[in-house]
Amino acid sequence: MTKIAIVVPCYNEAQALPIFYEEMQHITPTVPDADWEFVFVNDGSKDETLKVLKQFAAEDERVKYVSFSRNFGKESAMLAGLSYASGEYVAVMDVDLQDPPEMLPQMYREITENGHDCAAARRITRKGEPKIRSFFARRFYRLINRLSATEIVDGARDFRMMTRAMVDSILSLTEVNRFSKGLFNWVGFDTKWLEYENRERSAGETKWSFWKLLLYSIDGIVAFSTKPLAISSLCGVLLCFLSFVGIIFTIVRQILFHSSAFGWSSMVCIILLVGGLQLFCVGILGQYLAKTYLEVKNRPVYIVKETNQEK
Ligand code: UDP
Ligand code: MG
Repeated sequence: MTKIAIVVPCYNEAQALPIFYEEMQHITPTVPDADWEFVFVNDGSKDETLKVLKQFAAEDERVKYVSFSRNFGKESAMLAGLSYASGEYVAVMDVDLQDPPEMLPQMYREITENGHDCAAARRITRKGEPKIRSFFARRFYRLINRLSATEIVDGARDFRMMTRAMVDSILSLTEVNRFSKGLFNWVGFDTKWLEYENRERSAGETKWSFWKLLLYSIDGIVAFSTKPLAISSLCGVLLCFLSFVGIIFTIVRQILFHSSAFGWSSMVCIILLVGGLQLFCVGILGQYLAKTYLEVKNRPVYIVKETNQEK
């Protein structure tokens, strides 16, 4: 028997959990000769999530739960889930059924029969999502793919099944600032993309505000590219060059026409522009410094308060 582990991060999902669990009972028997394991990670929920999880665990020995001492974010929850999962194949999925569970058998076949190391879901539409969010999401993927050498696939979900070797290599990355969409690709291995249409949440509501997503995208860029630093130095060089041209222009004009002392308003504009650019570049530098600071502190990515499992 091979073992398939499903890692499920949950934050305030008491409503969605029973629907998810019920749905999984229909999926698991469709894969022959497989043992299943569920690793639910309670990411510091404020609702009844932990109670629901304990209930599942009491009735079903395949259920593991790991409960954090507070909300650490989905990235931390996924990492904890991966490190507690024991299967030869490990899948990560959301609890809200936006990741179609019926894709799991297909993912399993892609890995076991077609020899891929990973089968991942990619949504080809963003139906049902606010237009403005889709717009910015597209811009973000364009930008990060220009800046980063690691490809970040547009529409890629965290929903994927991986072999033990790939999971272990992800666990070997010890960084604190984790951007999984990038890490999954960074470790390499051969990924098969399975496409599907976007789905709406089964119950409860999304935990990602626009603001949270924006900050997350900046984290992603900082984690996977140092090009913004190079670009800011390049801006500095360009501005120096421009000012050099300006100096020569002013000197020549003074010599020829004796009329260089004008242009107060243009001067103010230039000062503001250059001042703004400087702050912007210092800000970019600050982002990297802040991340370095957090990495150096080397705090744990999550703290487990209780679990029914040994690691
Ligand atoms: N999630 C989590 N911690 C958080 C936020 C979200 O574990 O701080 C989980 C959440 O319970 C869900 C998954 O991450 O299983 C995806 O969250 P959500 O559905 O809100 O995101 P969306 O699908 O809207 O991007
Ligand atoms: Mg969702």
